[in-house]
Amino acid sequence: MGKNCVIVGCRNKDTNKMEGLKFHRIPKDEPRRSLWLKAINRLCPITGKPWVPSDDGRICSSHFVKEKSDNPSSVDYVPTLKLNSTPMAIPLPDRRKSQLALVTSRVEQVTSEGQAST
Ligand SMILES: [Zn+2]
Repeated sequence: MGKNCVIVGCRNKDTNKMEGLKFHRIPKDEPRRSLWLKAINRLCPITGKPWVPSDDGRICSSHFVKEKSDNPSSVDYVPTLKLNSTPMAIPLPDRRKSQLALVTSRVEQVTSEGQAST
């Protein structure tokens, strides 16, 4: 199964076989992991809280100036391109949304904001 990029609004998948596109795992070491999560700026659509990546969470190379770097002084130590400036959740499909009719209005707000921007 192909991996999706975790950036909201980025449709790159590793099955697209786009030329030169690479997928990078979210680092497990702090504080780098926190820097990446801040850059990803993603919310959980159900809780409205900061999203927690799975072990498979990956970011595609289109979010790096040149190429992901492990050097803390490099601009590519964290992803910087094509990111969301405000926290966003991936919009839920309508069917799923009606199943979640009891969730808070805050979650609804987050979801509709995500749709408006795509
Ligand atoms: Zn991406």
